[in-house]
Amino acid sequence: MDRTSTRDELQAAWAGARAEMDGLPEDRGLNIAHEAVDRHAAGAHGDRIAFRFFSKDGRRREMSFRQLAEETSRFANALRALGVEPGDPVFLLVGRIPELYVAALGALKARCVICPLFSAFGPEPIRARMDLGAARVLVTTPALYRRKVKGLREELPALEHVLLVGPEEEAEGVRAGANGVRSLATLMAEADSSFEIPDTDAEDPALLHFTSGTTGAPKGALHVHEAVVAHHVTGRIALDLRPGDVFWCTADPGWVTGTSYGIISPLTNGVTSVVDEREFDAERWYRTLEEEEVNVWYTAPTAVRMLMKSGRELPAQVDLNPLRFIASVGEPLNPEAVIWGREALGLPIHDNWWQTETGSIMIANVAGREIRPGSMGHPLPGVEAAVGRRENDRVELIREPDVEGELLLRKGWPSMFRTYLNQEGRYRGCFAGDWYLTGDLVRRDADGYFWFVGRADDVIKSAGHLIGPFEVESALMEHPAVAEAAVIGKPDAVVGEIVKAFIALHPGHEASEDLRLEILGHARKRLGSVAAPKEISILDDLPKTKSGKTLRRLLKARELGTDEGDLSTLEAPT
Ligand code: AMP
Repeated sequence: MDRTSTRDELQAAWAGARAEMDGLPEDRGLNIAHEAVDRHAAGAHGDRIAFRFFSKDGRRREMSFRQLAEETSRFANALRALGVEPGDPVFLLVGRIPELYVAALGALKARCVICPLFSAFGPEPIRARMDLGAARVLVTTPALYRRKVKGLREELPALEHVLLVGPEEEAEGVRAGANGVRSLATLMAEADSSFEIPDTDAEDPALLHFTSGTTGAPKGALHVHEAVVAHHVTGRIALDLRPGDVFWCTADPGWVTGTSYGIISPLTNGVTSVVDEREFDAERWYRTLEEEEVNVWYTAPTAVRMLMKSGRELPAQVDLNPLRFIASVGEPLNPEAVIWGREALGLPIHDNWWQTETGSIMIANVAGREIRPGSMGHPLPGVEAAVGRRENDRVELIREPDVEGELLLRKGWPSMFRTYLNQEGRYRGCFAGDWYLTGDLVRRDADGYFWFVGRADDVIKSAGHLIGPFEVESALMEHPAVAEAAVIGKPDAVVGEIVKAFIALHPGHEASEDLRLEILGHARKRLGSVAAPKEISILDDLPKTKSGKTLRRLLKARELGTDEGDLSTLEAPT
């Protein structure tokens, strides 16, 4: 691209997409749940299957668009009966079970703001996010509630209602002494199955997704109902979704991919989604692709690398004829993986790029366009991407090809985050003039293909999860023996990076294997399996700058045996 588009040109590209939306009856606005569910339930394909759920024990349950409309209306009515108001935050802490999908869409009908959390998070990440998001309602299971939330109730004063999935008796068991705990099934049974979505402004908040930064608390990226315009169109363009397709997005809704493309986009596009509660298993995954006759598959590089490790025999035994398109997101997709896809699955893997803040796919290898293995592809229509360099409050665009710089996006696409909840300063810091700064380093080749280079900060990507070193360090420092902690991402062939921690001990504590294991256990209990370090090294001191900042980059260089760079700001040799 040798010139930048004007804002008007980009807006014109989105106007066409906006025209594809149905809108609430009588011009009452734009609501994600209407576009995703009610619109189809009331149409000619109301009996089409919206979701095929597979539970942990392998049971299969189908739900048509019409049934989904009824169930989500029940949930919206149940919220209303509890006195929950539009705009109230509804948090979801459950595995990939039907109730998660019903509650998410039902809460959107009631115009609440939904925030799905990973059920693998430990109590600390859950507390931090629910506190920042002022959760008023939580949907969870009795087991997760008991293990991860019950002990935090005093620290979550905004939390009024806890709706437990499962039989009434189980809810009864955890109810004692905890106010606002109810059985979701009972509430649903008492609720009506029709609900009129209230007037919804396209700019009303709808989705809250937490992401991690290098420093400070997690950031709650807030998206509005207007985002559905981008969910819908990018699903069609970047994932090649066509009405009637069977689509499998393997992401959990705790991650933005599992919401934008695991819930919303396939529904708006009239597609049947496969939802599997179970974790990765190469053999079962291939069988699922075959038996469910999946047409479009959206997964992540870590999963692709695990499939590659499981060998060529398994894919050779399955018939993947219905499969038309495979896409991947979340981490760099190695060129070998694209080639492996062609050879083992008969199709290349189309890498695409986006992040929590962008709300939908921005750069992609779209169907029918030549793939350059290792590249993320081209910006989608309506998206202007550029490469630039930060200069104080401004950015300088780099126009020559093949020069590394930060990936910039021109503001104004519908699913752009509207703020970081309660952290307006951090939000404003992401913009320079008309450009949103992504925090990723890229280069663009002469033909306009974008290539991922790395993160511009110290945030860690492990098995697709973005992990803020600060959150991990804070949890480590809660252990009485730990005086200082610094966390880095250490390259790993399968998951991209693993979390590695370096700690220094308080005087009076001796480094030992027992203590190291104890601290590892402490971190796992506080943080959960997603963010806890896999490795810990105990050092006498951590290297710091003269201003007292721990030099994570130096620790990383030493760990990897790479160039230690400029050490002039180092406090004292360590
Ligand atoms: P998240 O907000 O958790 O989805 O993480 C977004 C980050 O994941 C981006 O800023 C990138 O650093 C990384 N990422 C996403 N997609 C890709 C991709 N296709 N290639 C390389 N990195 C990616």
